[in-house]
Amino acid sequence: MVRVRFAPSPTGRLHLGSARTALFNWLFARGQGGSFILRIEDTDVERSSREMEESILEDLRWLGLDWDEGPDVGGPHAPYRQSERGEVYREHARLLVEKGMAYPCFCTPEQLEEKRERALAEGRSPRYDGACRDLEPLEVRKREGRGERPALRFRVPEKEVVFQDLLHGLVRFPPGSFGDFIIMRSDGRAGFHFSVVVDDAVMGITHVIRGEDHLTNTARHVLLFEALGYPAPMYLHHSLLLGPDGGKMSKRHGATSVREYREMGYLPQALVNYLALLSWSPPEGREVLDLSELVELFDIGDLSRSPAVFDRERLDWLNGKHLRRMPLDELVRVAGVYAPRWSGHPLFAVMLESVLDNITNLGELPSYLEAYGEPARPGERAAEWLRGEVAGRVLEKAEEILREEGVRDLEHAHHLVARLRHAFDERDLKPKEILMPLRVALTGRDRGPALPYLLYVLGRDECLRRLQGVRS
Ligand code: GLU
Repeated sequence: MVRVRFAPSPTGRLHLGSARTALFNWLFARGQGGSFILRIEDTDVERSSREMEESILEDLRWLGLDWDEGPDVGGPHAPYRQSERGEVYREHARLLVEKGMAYPCFCTPEQLEEKRERALAEGRSPRYDGACRDLEPLEVRKREGRGERPALRFRVPEKEVVFQDLLHGLVRFPPGSFGDFIIMRSDGRAGFHFSVVVDDAVMGITHVIRGEDHLTNTARHVLLFEALGYPAPMYLHHSLLLGPDGGKMSKRHGATSVREYREMGYLPQALVNYLALLSWSPPEGREVLDLSELVELFDIGDLSRSPAVFDRERLDWLNGKHLRRMPLDELVRVAGVYAPRWSGHPLFAVMLESVLDNITNLGELPSYLEAYGEPARPGERAAEWLRGEVAGRVLEKAEEILREEGVRDLEHAHHLVARLRHAFDERDLKPKEILMPLRVALTGRDRGPALPYLLYVLGRDECLRRLQGVRS
């Protein structure tokens, strides 16, 4: 049974790049009928927070990426927060010490830093020099007796590391690619590599799908699996998400977190659709896909190895497509948050429909719906439409029609506009010359929702009031 995990460190909001990793894992799990596990990697206590953990969970839920096991729902391998799994790591560390594959290291951070700087200055790679590799047991006991607290280091075997990556094929690291690394810190907490491997092992993870930036970590992990006597999972390292300038997607490229896109009014289905398409081509003509369609069509083996370059225009395009593809009642539900001023209006759905073709995200709603608010003072260009004999006639006629017929519904509003145009048939005017004065009179603006919508939403009395406001 396929078991994959998403393992965020709760040190910030969910990054688009991490959301993409989560999505690939989720799609793979759902496509295979497997389990998707959420594990919180909060061993860096200074930088991790519960607030960020909550925020990540909430954004994953919003994206529709649900999990089968995790810190909130529990599961057979609980707890799912690394900060609560100290005993599991200590147990496995003891095992490695017993086998002679890990050893205590008394080097202080200052000593290590000094060696690091010296190595860098001499042009050597700053790997651990093995100072404590062969300490006599007696020496170890003496120093521990004096109250020194050692870290534990993994004794990296002198050999080539080879593993199979589902996207990159065989990946090789020559002997000596890295030095002995810390598996337990001197304060008793597990090191990054160790906690990841122990958890992947005991949680029965079958496939580790993560970014290419983890490739060298994987080499260390493969050795740890071997040392601990667990079979290593299959690995797939996907390409990284880059900004338009080719650098790793970061703040200087604008918004990077899922939350920011959510607040701007992007839809979750557009975001996951976009993230999937960044490295994968769907069958011809089927670009606009929701999660269930993605599950059906997506194949992790088809992922491209090329870097994924963020392209806001394509995201906008997809968001527009999803907005217009959504059932209207669902749109009404999600759009309310972005336009609280209007969401209680009995004709909110009609108002949404009237601007839907113009917006790329829901955050733009308030400015588009402004047309239904109190008319603005017309600017220079708009005011021009209210001047002259034709404008006067048009507004007079509009008033007459409205008084006579009222506005019954949207279809009727279409009819009212057609009737207004007909009234000027013999004068050979452009449609704009008839419709613009009415639009500007009603809204103070020379652009906005189609006229029938304005007439219908504002209603007979309000339209008449506005027309009088202009004529008086
Ligand atoms: N916690 C790691 C991160 O946020 C992920 C480790 C992994 O996927 O193995 O980058």
